[in-house]
Amino acid sequence: MRALLRLASFAPRRQASSSRFLVDKFDRHHTYLRISLTERCNLRCQYCMPLEGVQLSKPSHLLTTPEIVKLVQLFAQGGISKIRLTGGEPLLRKDLPEIVGHLKGISGIRTIGMTTNGVTLHRTLSSLQEAGLDKLNISLDTLEERKFEFIARRKGLRHVLRSIDEAVQAGFTPLKINCVVMKGLNDDEISSFVALTKDKPIDVRFIEYMPFDGNRWNFSKFVAYKDMLSAIEASHGDVVRLENDYNDTAKSYKVPGYTGHFGFITSMSEHFCGSCNRLRLSAEGSLKVCLFGASEVSLRDALRSGADDAELMSLIGMAVKKKKAAHAGMFNISKSKNKPMILIGGLFSNLSIRLFSSSQLSHLDSQGKARMVDTSEKEITQREASARAVVHLGKSIYDAVKENNVKKGDVLSVARIAGISAAKATPSLIPLCHTLGLSYVGIEFHLREVDHSVEVVSVVRCADRTGVEMEALTAVAVASLTVYDMCKAMSKDMEIREIRLLYKKGGKSN
Ligand code: SAM
Ligand code: SF4
Repeated sequence: MRALLRLASFAPRRQASSSRFLVDKFDRHHTYLRISLTERCNLRCQYCMPLEGVQLSKPSHLLTTPEIVKLVQLFAQGGISKIRLTGGEPLLRKDLPEIVGHLKGISGIRTIGMTTNGVTLHRTLSSLQEAGLDKLNISLDTLEERKFEFIARRKGLRHVLRSIDEAVQAGFTPLKINCVVMKGLNDDEISSFVALTKDKPIDVRFIEYMPFDGNRWNFSKFVAYKDMLSAIEASHGDVVRLENDYNDTAKSYKVPGYTGHFGFITSMSEHFCGSCNRLRLSAEGSLKVCLFGASEVSLRDALRSGADDAELMSLIGMAVKKKKAAHAGMFNISKSKNKPMILIGGLFSNLSIRLFSSSQLSHLDSQGKARMVDTSEKEITQREASARAVVHLGKSIYDAVKENNVKKGDVLSVARIAGISAAKATPSLIPLCHTLGLSYVGIEFHLREVDHSVEVVSVVRCADRTGVEMEALTAVAVASLTVYDMCKAMSKDMEIREIRLLYKKGGKSN
């Protein structure tokens, strides 16, 4: 099934900033500042926090409320109009309503949002609303009590669900729910999360799980948004793609007739550097201009050493001008500091995965860390690849397969399904393969009387930026192994030979 595209114009508009010091070399106007208010948290989410915990900064190293207000006044002069408060858990900051009130009073600040785990939200919801909080994101990855406790290493689902209901009733609509999707952990709940949008003005945003040192990232936990979308269409029927604003990080959809929406934050499979309008201020007062970049400038140190407004603006402006056109690709990000998510405060951090150390190879960076080739500049074209393998069965097995008389069942039908599934699973098996939206996987078997073998041939197609030869090869390899597995009770005297690519079409090498 296909997502129905609403054919309205897809020409999102960029929000302009009033002054140039927050405009970078690529004419990106920064209008959105995310502020981490604390490094502390009352949960211990596995994907955010390392098991051993994090080294907290000394309280005196954190920005005070007057310092935060001072810096936001300067950022507002540069065009920041939208603030998001995050953490750690922002609700742990005792003077939170006061901070919201001060920021709301700053000229130019139009919207104040907050991302929270929601555990204690019901206690302060009304005072936050009175202080001027406009938007709320509540993070929730599961609707099952025991799973919540497993993921967050703490109890609390009941409180979060209560906060969600109270926030909707208080008028925080659409209320955004951030759900980090991890294969084998909560990907079976995607459809239940979409069901929440049926009667409630809720916008569920499924977030692709991101790696960083300490969160036990591995490729097999990653679920690409296209797979999530297919799962949703399988359970809720055709969905409608909604228009997004220029700077939106989510791709938005809705099920026709449902009150709320859902969307995907595709930081892993498709990044959004070109329209990035975000800056980030850590709880220690460091400015990060790139979501994934390692460089930071300490505004706290500058403030505390007496820098005046002009000096601070110039420091911020210089950092913004250094912002790169795009980050290095999610699989290639492994620069100096590898902070856990909780210390960076939000959805987007600098990350690291260290798989190998070796000399310069195309899939390793200069420091010997694994990298996926960045294909974002490549053109999307039709791709096709075909591969083959031969399984030598011996006469008795050959006859049994030919007559479909093997005890375990229909060998070739099972092998065909295995090969198709394997082609689709290639990126989780072969670490640096790209996740592609396959449009077709076909597997054919040719029984060869002459040497009592079966030839397995695959054809795989997609429209994408990179080819499908690994998918074609994986398909025949796994289909052949399945033939072996189905027949091995009869004899182990079988051999899989000649796994090879037959051709690939599309792309540069054609
Ligand atoms: N404590 C608050 C919360 O949980 O909403 C705010 C801070 S939390 C770091 C902000 C957001 O980052 C949350 O929605 C969380 O789910 C998301 N996040 C944390 N680690 C992540 C990861 N490894 N991959 C994707 N999203 C992640
Ligand atoms: Fe805490 Fe939020 Fe990180 Fe979970 S995601 S540990 S709630 S900061």
